[in-house]
Amino acid sequence: KSGFISIIGRPNVGKSTFLNRVIGQKIAIMSDKPQTTRNKVQGVLTTNDAQFIFIDTPGIHKPKHKLGDFMMKVAQNTLKEVDVILFMVNATEGYGKGEEFILEKFQTVRTPIFLVINKIDQVHPDELLKIIDSYKGKYNFSEIIPISALEGNNVENLLKQIKEYI
Ligand code: GDP
Ligand code: MG
Repeated sequence: KSGFISIIGRPNVGKSTFLNRVIGQKIAIMSDKPQTTRNKVQGVLTTNDAQFIFIDTPGIHKPKHKLGDFMMKVAQNTLKEVDVILFMVNATEGYGKGEEFILEKFQTVRTPIFLVINKIDQVHPDELLKIIDSYKGKYNFSEIIPISALEGNNVENLLKQIKEYI
């Protein structure tokens, strides 16, 4: 099994931390450069029975960028070509305008989208349930998976779920 995965989310939600954890190298940090490349491979995780290829999707959360519209098209095309999109949000912040903006960009995309709620090490379980609730009706996510990219909680399960879609 082999599949392409794109991680989308506002700055600071933990995308690089997640990549660094699963890839085990500093590739993600090295790719934090100006948005000059497209469909860039950020890292590859090869396990016994699957290969996860993480693809960078520049542009999707930079609405005020000068090349905003063009980059947005590029980003949306990328999203249509991957097998799974991980929409990563911060468990300590909840649904807001930034998330709404990104979800709007997903409307034309048929790719399975996982809601990945990161930083669960920082919230009480009740709080997590409220966050999950706040996403009800916003989008028909294929899976909703809480994780801590920093501490590793539930990351294995997330990979297992991705495997079902690639
Ligand atoms: P990115 O901008 O989405 O790539 O976010 P980063 O991976 O750079 O993470 C932003 C900040 O959040 C860093 O200080 C990380 O250490 C922190 N962070 C990322 N994941 C977690 C997590 O699961 N728990 C906690 N407590 N902090 C996290
Ligand atoms: Mg980053």
